[in-house]
Amino acid sequence: MKNIAIIGGGIGGLTMANCLQAKRIDFKLYEQAPQLGEVGAGIGLSKSVMDLFRKINLYEELEAAGSFIKYACMTSKHLKVRRELPVKLDSICIHRAKLIDILSKHIDKEKIHLNKKVSKIAQDENRITLFFSDGTSAPCDLVIVADGIHSPIRKQLFPSLNIRYANQIIWRGVTKLRLDNFYQNRFIESWDEYKRFLFVPLNREYVFWLAVQNGAPGGAKITKADLVKGYSGFHPLVQQLIRDSENLIQNDLADLGGDDRIWYKENIVIMGDAIHATTPNLAQGGCQAIEDAFALTRMLITHDFNHNVAFPAYQQLRNKKAMYVVNTSWKLGQMAHEGSKIKYFLSKHAWRFIPGGVFKKSERFINDIKYLS
Ligand SMILES: Cc1cc2nc3c(=O)[nH]c(=O)nc-3n(C[C@H](O)[C@H](O)[C@H](O)COP(=O)(O)OP(=O)(O)OC[C@H]3O[C@@H](n4cnc5c(N)ncnc54)[C@H](O)[C@@H]3O)c2cc1C
Repeated sequence: MKNIAIIGGGIGGLTMANCLQAKRIDFKLYEQAPQLGEVGAGIGLSKSVMDLFRKINLYEELEAAGSFIKYACMTSKHLKVRRELPVKLDSICIHRAKLIDILSKHIDKEKIHLNKKVSKIAQDENRITLFFSDGTSAPCDLVIVADGIHSPIRKQLFPSLNIRYANQIIWRGVTKLRLDNFYQNRFIESWDEYKRFLFVPLNREYVFWLAVQNGAPGGAKITKADLVKGYSGFHPLVQQLIRDSENLIQNDLADLGGDDRIWYKENIVIMGDAIHATTPNLAQGGCQAIEDAFALTRMLITHDFNHNVAFPAYQQLRNKKAMYVVNTSWKLGQMAHEGSKIKYFLSKHAWRFIPGGVFKKSERFINDIKYLS
């Protein structure tokens, strides 16, 4: 049996660990943080991944911890509905901490190694050595890299693959608030010139919200009061959600670009944000990392852990959908924050007239997991 290491205990690495454990395949997972966890925000999981989680018996737990999204609603900044689309497929929104808890609680504890930051990898044809920042090292045969968009391992293997900034800043938070019935099971996205505000109930008690504006990367952190001021022209509910939020997380939106790339190098393979990070406009980055884990497990087993065949086959299975998500999400984000008033006017009103079939086609493609059966 090959000695397998997973680097990173985020959504991708933990799903990979669950998939391997379900097939009784041994592994060690190394996470740099002293404990597994996630930022205080929500995350949407599409039907495709909920169906995949059925295969490793996590569906019921996730379903119970999240709330179903039944409608996606485009509104004006005054929350006047411009377009409403039924989400026929079982997507849920769940708190990230809850997701990580469910993904980690069934993994054998002795397989998870915390406080283990990989600083370097030495690789030859048959053997790999992981070097940790605490001065220790570990040998292994296959390495699965799931260490996120800033992946130091990807930078070591593929230094020319750079982060692409969208010149947009996103703020997120969770607010304790019981929304009116209308907003239950609805994902709301309201647009104004250069600004967006999105919210969705996590359950009957809490609401997850996001605010997006144009802005250069690396800017100073702002306060809740400043953000409320920035959204003063929006519906009072929007301001209330920001003002009463339990937290405020600020990020620069970025991805790894939409150009072709290789996802593996000999006996090292990369998954999730570390190789195809996407902007969050389609709410798909985590979902794609989860699909990676199922595809990679399947290819490792099908090809008897021969990395020369399994790793290219894994990329072949996953490349088209992952790159579709990266490119479509990028375009959507650019369209939403168009610089000129005319373009903004056109894109705002286009939402009313785009045939429903266009959204359905995209939704069907993203949720298609037949390629994994
Ligand atoms: C604002 C926003 C909203 C989003 N909304 C959604 C959504 O609704 N739905 C969705 O599917 N996706 C969403 N995403 C994307 C999603 O969060 C990511 O795609 C997902 O977290 C990627 O998972 P990952 O495991 O690949 O990487 P990460 O979650 O980044 O995990 C990487 C892990 O590796 C560890 N690590 C890093 N370096 C090392 C090292 N050297 N050694 C050891 N460990 C290391 C880190 O500590 C971390 O635990 C959103 C993203 C953003 C920014």
